[in-house]
Amino acid sequence: MARQDVTSADETALADSSPMEEIVSETALQSRRLGLIELLDKDLQISMLESALKRDRLAGTLLFFGPEGSGKSSLAFWLAAALNCTTNEGRTAPCFQCNSCCKIQSLNHPDVLWIFPLPGSFYKGEHLDEMRLAKIFEQKRLEPWIELQFAEKSEHHLAAVRRIRQEASRSCYEGRRKVFVITGADRLRIEAANAFLKLLEEPRPNVTLILCSDRPASLLPTILSRCQRLQVTRPGVSTLTGLLESRFGIRAEEAGELLALADGNLAGTLRMKSEDSYQAQKEWVDNTFQAVLEPGYSGCYALVDNRKGPMYNRGDFERYLALLTQALQDSLLIRLSGPKGENASPGSTPKKGPISKYADRVADSQALIKLITRMVNLRDELNRNVNLRLLGWSILKDMKEVIGDGA
Ligand SMILES: [Zn+2]
Repeated sequence: MARQDVTSADETALADSSPMEEIVSETALQSRRLGLIELLDKDLQISMLESALKRDRLAGTLLFFGPEGSGKSSLAFWLAAALNCTTNEGRTAPCFQCNSCCKIQSLNHPDVLWIFPLPGSFYKGEHLDEMRLAKIFEQKRLEPWIELQFAEKSEHHLAAVRRIRQEASRSCYEGRRKVFVITGADRLRIEAANAFLKLLEEPRPNVTLILCSDRPASLLPTILSRCQRLQVTRPGVSTLTGLLESRFGIRAEEAGELLALADGNLAGTLRMKSEDSYQAQKEWVDNTFQAVLEPGYSGCYALVDNRKGPMYNRGDFERYLALLTQALQDSLLIRLSGPKGENASPGSTPKKGPISKYADRVADSQALIKLITRMVNLRDELNRNVNLRLLGWSILKDMKEVIGDGA
């Protein structure tokens, strides 16, 4: 089957979107929370989808792909609303007023289902732990942009795909179309992927599957080839800065700094801003340098094993990693310019924090540069199911090697 793209042949660098696969639970943010459907810089994607709707050219299976925080699922719920809106007859944008639109926006529509990767511990055999699941939905309603983060590895299990097949074979309860929004679609277990493929081979006229993925290359080619694809890009920095300013009261300057730390990902930015975690992670970064500077490995062990530390929580780890990377970059700068060099202003006592102590002891600048490069690239890996403590441990080991104190 030939690939059909929603985009035209010359896939232009598109507009963008709002992140939405995110879950932040900070009370401070709740009053200014963002909705399930937030379309930031999405004009291009919306016009493509509207045009496909009007011409009745929308495929039964779609793939929305783009980086984390680009707003794929926001757009997916927008489409689900458009397909089921009772005032637009499914041919244009949703009205956001009718009963159907309201139910979709609050994740309460029986024909619009959100499917996301889950840890194996949610299953008892084929059965899902409905109580735990309900909590996630509750959280998502409160803070739709929050990123689902589980300490354990999360995937689409066979039972989840079976549930989709079962639901898809039923007629609609009240809507026009059954829509399945499947986030993290690349995280299908092998047996689940095979079952999913079967699902795609069974034509169902009233079913739309919207797959969302930030790494479409990880999808089976046989699945990819059956999807009508739409690229979703991140909102522009000025849009994000404006949003952080107007809705979250974050000064433009700080917003810009946080966005840079979070690599332009709004959800990541909100996580960094949120809680006192930002301050806490800064302290963990200082502790890290101290532990690395100590002879031997006991300080490092203690850090990795500390249950309150960053290695036990993916969100914390993300912030910690961003700050640690920045601190290592600072130490490289200190190393290269040198505190004794011309940059030290006369009369000032140079600060001797752990970062500059570390800089003084760097034995091999090249190794430090290599480590920083590695850490910058790690960000992408984080969403995969890496073991945080192993990863943290290997970073600490590398940091020790840079100062010639490797084991
Ligand atoms: Zn409507």
